[in-house]
Amino acid sequence: MRRSAIDTPPDPLSAGARRQIDALLAAQPEAASWLGVLSAVLAESAAPRWETMASATRLSPERAPAAPLLAGAVIPVDPRAAERWVREVLRIAADAGPEAASLRAAAESRDLAPLDMLAMAINAEGDHLDAAAITLGASPEALAVAAGLASIPLLQAVRRRFGAAVAAHWSEGYCPVCGDWPLLAEQRGLERARRLRCGRCGSDWAQPGIRCPYCNVTGHAARAALIPETDSEARRVEICYQCRGYLKSVSTLRAWAGDEIPLADMATVDLDLAALAREYERPGPRTLRPGVTVVTADG
Ligand SMILES: [Zn+2]
Ligand SMILES: [Zn+2]
Repeated sequence: MRRSAIDTPPDPLSAGARRQIDALLAAQPEAASWLGVLSAVLAESAAPRWETMASATRLSPERAPAAPLLAGAVIPVDPRAAERWVREVLRIAADAGPEAASLRAAAESRDLAPLDMLAMAINAEGDHLDAAAITLGASPEALAVAAGLASIPLLQAVRRRFGAAVAAHWSEGYCPVCGDWPLLAEQRGLERARRLRCGRCGSDWAQPGIRCPYCNVTGHAARAALIPETDSEARRVEICYQCRGYLKSVSTLRAWAGDEIPLADMATVDLDLAALAREYERPGPRTLRPGVTVVTADG
């Protein structure tokens, strides 16, 4: 159906994300509730309030050349907006499945510290998130996932605000903005340019040469490929013989918008299964050091 520009507010999701959601709903109807959570998070990422907070972010002047942009940054956050959002994510994530039900009580808990939760998620401080889960009586796995989701709107806004400044000369395996590992690689365009994409902030970067993004080993050991039997080379898994890490790689005609990356990840679960069956693993979230400090915005 066509959207009328007059009576419908503009869609917060990109056209590409909307297409991916429709395709996922058709292909994986059992994933509808999780897809609903993800759609809500991606739609929130377009809200102007995060833009305001991203603009007020103070980057560290003492950043090392290989440090992501947010290393040591101070992010002033509107405490009321952050609290509302973090509690909402916990509530909607709690409805996604029985393994996340413990988030319902966490969403209402007086012990919830929303700004700390955002900082712990951005910095990927697993031990601190585990401790918060105990305090809130929530499953540590579910809380870590929900906290990661809650940080996406702020990180996407930070990448929109600052991303252009770092993309050109960056050559590390981790995200130049938030420091996480790439969620997927694109083989983009007719020339199949390899672009790494961050699932949290949406960054888009190249890593020259043949090198593993995780352990930095170069040459043949760094990038073999698993290709599902039913597929051409359009979708494959890059594997590293040294660290046993894997990265899914998908050919694309154009760059994915920032909100398409987590959806493209969902659409390629068969590649995860192929990699896991051969005992390759995706590394856990990469800790940001020095981490960000999330503070209360003035006014
Ligand atoms: Zn990132
Ligand atoms: Zn490796």
